[in-house]
Amino acid sequence: MSKKIEIEIKCPYCHIQNKGERWDFIDTRSNPELKTAVRSGEAFIYKCPSCDTPYDVDAPFAYFEPEKKFFLMYTNNKEDYEEALRVLKGEEESMLSEVRAVLDEILTDETYAKRLVFGRDELFEKLTLLDHGLDDGIMELLKIAYGQKIASRRNGDVAAAVTGKGTTTYAQSGTGKKTPEFDYLRFFLDDETKIGCLYLMKDNKRIAKLNTSRVVYNQVLERYGAEVHEREKNQVEINFRWAFDLLQADREKQMAAWE
Ligand SMILES: [Zn+2]
Repeated sequence: MSKKIEIEIKCPYCHIQNKGERWDFIDTRSNPELKTAVRSGEAFIYKCPSCDTPYDVDAPFAYFEPEKKFFLMYTNNKEDYEEALRVLKGEEESMLSEVRAVLDEILTDETYAKRLVFGRDELFEKLTLLDHGLDDGIMELLKIAYGQKIASRRNGDVAAAVTGKGTTTYAQSGTGKKTPEFDYLRFFLDDETKIGCLYLMKDNKRIAKLNTSRVVYNQVLERYGAEVHEREKNQVEINFRWAFDLLQADREKQMAAWE
């Protein structure tokens, strides 16, 4: 059962404090309509009763879509992220009885994906991948492959190209146009064509896009699929660090095979 909690919230427009509600746990069995509302962002909109202005309330919540065997915890600050990580690792119980009941059932069930995300664009990325039957671990490897391509054109290192940390990341595109500096890559559907692409993100905004192809995705899947699925079991943070660890382990395995 989904669960709402009461909140005291100060309107950013009229600055009047009001009582309201927001979703703390979304279970698509009891509220199938929230599947769409979460993806459109409508589920997070609160309408101020004093001035009638709708605005977005960004707060942590848990999301359960059992038909897809998918459970996700959304956070937007460090403290909540670390707490959610402990909950998903089974080191701590969730404060919410509804979430506790679900986790009791699925936490050790390897057929369920359990994910922890930070920030809205990571949330929407995971849901886009889920909706299109794409694996997020494969996608993280794909990002490294594209990052490598970008980095090789600028003698940059891959970590910098994928995360934007460290050296400045630029790239020359095929047409010789400079790809702008970016922080990280995110998979979304192109706004116009609705085809999957990797957006170059800067300050949480999409600044450019790289076209990806299903062919390349399938190549990565074929090469790393078995290992990805093995390593996704009981892992909740599927991100670039996770993908780097996998590639590192894979390299060591290859080298050991030569000895
Ligand atoms: Zn207001």
